[in-house]
Order: sequence, then structure tokens, then C-alpha cells
Amino acid sequence: MNQLSLKNINKTYGNGVRAIEEVTLELSNGMFGLLGPNGAGKSSLMKTIVGLQRPDSGSITLNGIDIVTDTDFIKQQLGFLPQDFGVYPKISAYDLLNHLATLKGVVNKTARKEQVLALLDKVNLYQHRHKEVHTFSGGMRQRFGIAQALLGNPQVIIVDEPTAGLDPEERNRFNNLLSEIGEDMIIILSTHLVEDVKNLCPNMAVMHQGKVIAQGKPSHFINSL
Ligand code: ADP
Ligand code: ADP
Repeated sequence: MNQLSLKNINKTYGNGVRAIEEVTLELSNGMFGLLGPNGAGKSSLMKTIVGLQRPDSGSITLNGIDIVTDTDFIKQQLGFLPQDFGVYPKISAYDLLNHLATLKGVVNKTARKEQVLALLDKVNLYQHRHKEVHTFSGGMRQRFGIAQALLGNPQVIIVDEPTAGLDPEERNRFNNLLSEIGEDMIIILSTHLVEDVKNLCPNMAVMHQGKVIAQGKPSHFINSL
């Protein structure tokens, strides 16, 4: 069982905006919902957890290891699916994932090939592996993003508004995939969709103006949201 602990995290940007204020959270395996309106500080918190920025103060540990200072450990143990992946190169899904695996440090060629094919299979894109990712539908791209986030076998993945712009069927398919993966690892789902958090996440937190204003099981307080 993995344990991710955030203690008294603070982050103020250069412009004086206090984006994260005294955030303390305990997460273990399964899906954790992060709810809050635009500007609440969700992205700032996620960037801080994945190591894209450092908190001004506070500690973050994964299974007892300080991930603020140990940036190599962070790179191995955390996967991130950003809201906007950007522009995809004109190479096949297989080649792209294989390349990203190399960047992630999976050096052994046979092991890498095995991992890439297993991940494409896991996200149901195996039969589409020869196609270029920019030709994929929105749902396929998001599933590809999950395969990318899972490279190197991380213990935590963070997904930012993953179902924005997906039709209901693709959204369901994507959410089922997340639930399945979440059995063995920590998944942080940042979203403004209360419904998704209610259906998918055993635990959640609500952020508002940089602070966690509520946390616990969705059933305890979601009716008031
Ligand atoms: P959310 O993801 O919940 O919409 P953000 O973390 O993006 O919230 O933003 C929290 C606050 O921090 C907002 O007021 C936003 O304008 C500000 N902010 C976010 N990123 C930066 C930045 N790089 N520099 C300055 N202010 C920022
Ligand atoms: P090498 O990398 O030595 O050229 P590989 O057999 O690993 O030889 O792959 C050659 C190319 O064939 C890859 O770059 C890739 O485009 C494609 N390829 C190989 N195996 C697969 C596979 N299982 N699924 C999809 N494409 C593959």
C-alpha cells in the first residue's frame, strides 16, 4: 500500500498570489478526487506534487521518502497527464511511447518493447499502435496519455481534467480505465465534475482560494456541493 503525505504546503507566486496555503493531505492507493473552482489552486498543487515547482514550505513524502528534494525518485514514481499534452510528432503511437520510455530511462530494449506493448494493450490501443496519435479521437488520446503516465511503473499518477471534451461513452470508458488502474496505485483526479468524483473516488478534497476547505468521503458532504 502506497502512502503520499503532504504537510503544510505553501506556495506564493512572484506576483504575490498565494496559490497554496497550509495544505495537508494523506493519500493511499485508489482514486483521490481534487475538486474546486477555477483558480482554487488545483494545478499549482499538482505541479508541486509532480516536482514541476517547489513549495515555499512544507513537506511531501511518498512511502516515507522526501520527494521535494529527491527529484530522481519523483521522476520514477510519479506520472502526470497534463490537461493539454501539446503537439504530437508524426510518428506511430508505438514509436512515440517507445521514445518516451527511453526518456523515462527504460534502457533495456527488450524490456522497453515489452512494457510499451503491455501499456498499449492496457489502455486498449494495441490494435491502433501503428497509427499516429494526432489522428486519434479525444478519448484515444487521453488513454494514450495514461499509457505515457504509466511508463516506468510509477506509484502515483496525477490526471488533470482528463475527460474535458469527451463524449459520454468515451468518458465512461476512460473512467473505467482509471478505476481499474487505481486498485494498485494512487491516482489524483483533478476535476470540476462532482459526478465523476462521486462515482470514482473513495476520498476527496475540495480546494478554495488555495486552501483545502473540506476532505473525506464524497458521500459525507457531496450533497452540499
Ligand atoms: P486551478 O488549477 O484550481 O484553476 P491554479 O493553481 O491554476 O488553480 O491557480 C491558483 C491561483 O494562482 C490563481 O489565482 C492563478 O491565477 C494563480 N497562478 C497560477 N499559476 C501562476 C503562475 N505561474 N504565476 C502567477 N500566478 C499563478
Ligand atoms: P529496431 O528498433 O532495431 O529497428 P524493432 O523491431 O524494435 O527494431 O522495431 C522496428 C520498428 O518496427 C519500430 O521502430 C517500430 O516502428 C516498429 N515495431 C516493432 N515492433 C512493433 C510492435 N510490436 N508494434 C508496433 N510497431 C512495432
